[in-house]
Amino acid sequence: MNLTRRKFDALIIGAGGAGLRAALQLSNGDAKVAVVSKVFPTRSHTVAAQGGVNAALANVLPDSWHWHMFDTVKGSDYLGDQDAIEYMCRAASKVVYELDHFGVPFSRLDNGNIYQRAFGGQSQNFGQTQAARTCAAADRTGHAILHSLYQQNLRARTHFFDEYFAVDLLRDEQGFVLGALAFEILTGEPIVIEAKTTLIATGGAGQLFRTTTNALINTGDGMAMALRAGVPLEDMEFVQFHPTGIAGRGMLITEGARGEGGYLINSEGERFMERYAPRAKDLASRDVVSRSIATEVREGRGCGRNADHVLLDLRHLGADTIMQRLPGIRETSMTFLGVDPIEAPIPVFPTCHYSMGGIPTNRFGQVVAPVKDTPEDPVPGLYAAGEAACVSVHGANRLGGNSLLDILVFGRAAANHILEYLRENHYHRPLDETAVEQAMARLTRWDRKDPGDGSAEQVEPLKRELRKVMEDHCSVFRTDEVMREGVEKVRALRERLDHAVIADHSATFNTARVEAMELENLMDCAIATIRSALGREESRGAHSRIDFPERDDQHWLKHSLYSLADDSLDYKPVRTQPNTVPSFPPKERVY
Ligand code: FAD
Repeated sequence: MNLTRRKFDALIIGAGGAGLRAALQLSNGDAKVAVVSKVFPTRSHTVAAQGGVNAALANVLPDSWHWHMFDTVKGSDYLGDQDAIEYMCRAASKVVYELDHFGVPFSRLDNGNIYQRAFGGQSQNFGQTQAARTCAAADRTGHAILHSLYQQNLRARTHFFDEYFAVDLLRDEQGFVLGALAFEILTGEPIVIEAKTTLIATGGAGQLFRTTTNALINTGDGMAMALRAGVPLEDMEFVQFHPTGIAGRGMLITEGARGEGGYLINSEGERFMERYAPRAKDLASRDVVSRSIATEVREGRGCGRNADHVLLDLRHLGADTIMQRLPGIRETSMTFLGVDPIEAPIPVFPTCHYSMGGIPTNRFGQVVAPVKDTPEDPVPGLYAAGEAACVSVHGANRLGGNSLLDILVFGRAAANHILEYLRENHYHRPLDETAVEQAMARLTRWDRKDPGDGSAEQVEPLKRELRKVMEDHCSVFRTDEVMREGVEKVRALRERLDHAVIADHSATFNTARVEAMELENLMDCAIATIRSALGREESRGAHSRIDFPERDDQHWLKHSLYSLADDSLDYKPVRTQPNTVPSFPPKERVY
């Protein structure tokens, strides 16, 4: 096929924190690196991260990586892989100090050390007292990190394909991934990017739900690309609902607001978290707080005209603290609600926030998928990091501040492994042209015109319906009956998508094409999520089944794996053995 072609040592799909941290490591290691991003790099969703990044620096209170590890295992409801968790918590201080040296303007204590705030699920001495582990740049930590990483990459001469949309991976018959097909959004021009190694760092799939903290770009593209390339997705049933989204709208009010001392109240003015989590109260783990809010509203103690939310009260913190530590939160609340948190409490309700599941990897970032009945075999040449991946360090529930850490630690680790791979694999393998043709077919399918017989569907209404179905059928509380109905509805929507056309080819051709392809990706992620949720007959972390209210370690201490080709579910064991310390065996999870 006569297409533009470029060759690189490493292709990174995604320019968020994970992609940029990996790219920097590779460029500094003298690899020839391409980063493809559908938005300008500093608009990637990492920019929205507010509260901070966890590392046991012990700048505010005594701390240790081992306590951090304990909290992360417990927070994951014991589904996290303990080798990866140990690796991440041990590496945390190093990656934060690296950021400091890259130029991230962290907030400071009076003694000049990096400021650290308390976040949910953090403890000292293995669950005893609250820790303060989250390193913050006011409430704009992601912005500070992403801009610093981008500038460092410019200095390291990383090659950027800005506003290019990756369509599909190119995999040969032996299973090697050899790059991807992408197209330039501005011109529609396709390009084959051949690479000895490919890293997927495309972020999460938060657009699956109607109410979400995630931007429009978070459509699970990389997860869907992996599915189509024959890689199953791991633990997709675990979707985090953040307790404090702006009610009815979904924008995030960071957990840092509660970390600074804010608390939740119901219509009776009661600090209800004292009942659900007597010790940690408002700083219990996110799944616990989200369920508590949903329960308060369900039992009639919600606030407002429709009794459909609770209130987050910050007034007692005082104007100085709010303006110094939470200026972005104040602005968000004033912009979207007209509420100044210095004077009035903020209406909040749980909102979709984070994908704990994703592309299965080991702690070196290698994608591991079943090949010939050996579940841990790496897919040659394929890596994943960040929210698109499932290492799994978050298990059934992620702790606040651990995602920025995850993207930095595993972006870096994947790059280090790629450098090793490149030392042994000097040459490009020949590209399989059938794979290119298949990816091109997916791209050109959207050239079709409305047949004019009334059968054509439109992309936008289908997307609206999908997000409503997911919210109604696979949200904070789940049951077999409701999810079964949801699976059928998602399948029906997917069939209708086969008849969809782009409405206005002339005016908005390429952005409309992007939206259509994003919806295809969302559909694949939706079916993976709701099928995996229906399969798991227990309650664990963010997956809360009314019909199976207990955690069931005997049968369900395992990761789910959803495969698209035969619409099947499989499972693999949790890696409960850390690298150097004794394992944390499952216990009842109380806060
Ligand atoms: P992203 O930053 O989402 O980047 C994805 C990249 O992939 C983008 O560059 C995008 O252009 C590219 N891409 C996607 N699809 C394609 C495609 N088809 N073709 C080409 N490019 C593509 N975590 C914390 O630890 N602490 C916090 O305080 C915190 N606050 C948060 C606040 C908000 C509002 C939200 C939504 C999340 C927050 N998180 C926080 C979570 C954390 O920010 C994210 O999980 C993390 O930043 C994801 O980084 P990433 O690099 O994996 O992906």
